[in-house]
Amino acid sequence: MHTDLVAALDIGGTKIAGALVDGDGRIHARAQRPTPAQEAGDTVMGAVEAVLAELTASPLWGRATAVGIGSAGPVDASAGTVSPVNVPGWRDYPLVRRVRDAVGDLPVELIGDGVAITAAEHWQGAARGHDNALCMVVSTGVGGGLVLGGRLHPGPTGNSGHIGHISVDLDGDPCPCGARGCVERIASGPNIARRALDAGWRPGPDGDTSAAAVAAAARLGDPVAVASFERAAQALAAGIAATATLVEIDIAVVGGGVGKAGDVLFTPLRKALTDYATLSFVQRLVVVPAQMGTDAGLVGAAAAALTKAPGARPAHV
Ligand SMILES: [Zn+2]
Repeated sequence: MHTDLVAALDIGGTKIAGALVDGDGRIHARAQRPTPAQEAGDTVMGAVEAVLAELTASPLWGRATAVGIGSAGPVDASAGTVSPVNVPGWRDYPLVRRVRDAVGDLPVELIGDGVAITAAEHWQGAARGHDNALCMVVSTGVGGGLVLGGRLHPGPTGNSGHIGHISVDLDGDPCPCGARGCVERIASGPNIARRALDAGWRPGPDGDTSAAAVAAAARLGDPVAVASFERAAQALAAGIAATATLVEIDIAVVGGGVGKAGDVLFTPLRKALTDYATLSFVQRLVVVPAQMGTDAGLVGAAAAALTKAPGARPAHV
């Protein structure tokens, strides 16, 4: 069966990935550059243009019907601009216009990276077949996105579902966003590690103080490491329960580096959910690990582009 292709860009703080993706989510050509995150805005754009130049040089480019961009946020899809926290040279940067300049007349769709991951999990991953879902990325930060009524719900600016900055501790620690006690301030990888270190956990001989090292210690029964993951799980559970109560999701998908901790995270998370998701209509809510791998951002950006490319719309997005 002939399927049109779309171009997908996944723009993060460390790498800029691009691909040509078909209507079944298969990747046919790839390009990648490191993100010169601390450089001037136009230098960062130069790396995006280098990725696009490789894709447009592909013999398959002529079949591309749209471009989808998933970018680190915040993004403003209505204005076509991005202001990624860890790319300081991009503030209200006109990414959509610059990409359009590079690719000609194709429609360009911009969404936040949390929304892109959500599109991928809904299309091909753990949220497939669920009409109302929250998908989260728990790593250096905590992001997410929503599927409501069977459709991706990016919201007017493309940031809907950004659960990391819901406050779950009213008088909690200040968050870099300006609020207090945000989910991210408690449950992100760096905060899991910091809390364990503050409470007396010490790394092994390799000096690894990452959340993955705390997870390994928790797996061996280290009580301080276990407690730090339990606190993160509690914050995630409160945020997930609030989301379920507001919009009746029936599945929460948790990915990202912290999501890979496995039972160390998911066992206390499911237990904490029984404390916070108490009303009858949220009690069937399930929490599962993400299924999409490192290509989730690209596949999700492609899903968003397919919604702009007549004739190639993925059935589940
Ligand atoms: Zn915050």
